[in-house]
Amino acid sequence: MTTHTTRMLILGSGPAGLSAAIYGARAGMKPIVIQGIQPGGQLTTTTDVENYPGFADVIQGPWLMEQMQAQAAQVGTTLLWDTIVEVDLTRRPFRLVGDGGDTYRGDVLVIATGAQARWLGLESEEALKGKGVSACATCDGFFYRGKKVAVIGGGNTAVEEALYLTNHSPDVTLIHRRDSLRAERILQERLFAHPGVTVLWNKEVRRFVDGGGKAGLVALELEDTVTGATSRLDTDGGFVAIGHHPATELFRGHLDLDRDGYVAVTPGTTNTSVPGVFACGDVADKIYRQAVTAAGTGCMAALDAERFLQAAEFEEMAVAAE
Ligand code: NAP
Repeated sequence: MTTHTTRMLILGSGPAGLSAAIYGARAGMKPIVIQGIQPGGQLTTTTDVENYPGFADVIQGPWLMEQMQAQAAQVGTTLLWDTIVEVDLTRRPFRLVGDGGDTYRGDVLVIATGAQARWLGLESEEALKGKGVSACATCDGFFYRGKKVAVIGGGNTAVEEALYLTNHSPDVTLIHRRDSLRAERILQERLFAHPGVTVLWNKEVRRFVDGGGKAGLVALELEDTVTGATSRLDTDGGFVAIGHHPATELFRGHLDLDRDGYVAVTPGTTNTSVPGVFACGDVADKIYRQAVTAAGTGCMAALDAERFLQAAEFEEMAVAAE
């Protein structure tokens, strides 16, 4: 069992964690990044990436993450693999413990553990992911230009995704399991006023229908939640927008989470309720959820951490001099 000590400990290795590492390393903080069970984060399960600035040609998500890892290592980051099972944020240095017993101590901690989209859990959904079934309209909507698409869900995300898809598709259907939406009123008004959107109430998806070969998704089999009647909706794209799970279980009770379980940060910063602990990327963002915004807030976390350490060390020096 080993103890790893650093000025800057980063938990999570998606675009947020690795951007924090690149900035932290270049500021001399010798970061350690602990990568979990999905090193590279959500982008490693994505194929084509067309919206990350700097690449005129389509790039692959896993390749982009390999580049970020290599860049972080190149500037002086240590990348380790572990599953953290215990945290102590009551005093600095903060302490994390891995499932094999290794201990990680950091003068500051950056939480970049991300979030995962929630899925309906159907076999046909799993089989057609990336072949017509997606959980991100901003990422994949562009591939459905001129085609028919459907969004499943009734919250802010579902309504925003449906409205976003009208930029590409002339025929957008929102499918919701109840007869009223939980999205904000203003979004609902925009949705209902849009001529390109149809809302199907009281419907649940029972199966994503595979057209075989290159066709991928061709239709949804629906069931009415009131009458039990089944129906079919022809569609080229199915966007599941039923919420996300931020990876914050480890931190529950150790710092403030918001009512949806995301790490609460002071707006405009990455400061959490524990001084010296910062959060960036999707674990603290339920609105934008993009690789580029995660990278942006990762940079913010490193800058916030560096300023925090400078101030803390200055204070310690002043106390020692008294
Ligand atoms: P959400 O508010 O939890 O809504 C999830 C929706 O999916 C609900 O309508 C729910 O139906 C439906 N749903 C859940 N499980 C389902 C299932 N198994 N089958 C069918 N439908 C299912 O999630 P969200 O829209 O992602 O929003 C999460 C949080 O982020 C919210 O606080 C939201 O306000 C916030 N947010 C804010 C913005 C913004 O401010 N611009 C944008 C996006 C999200 P029921 O209604 O029947 O439960």
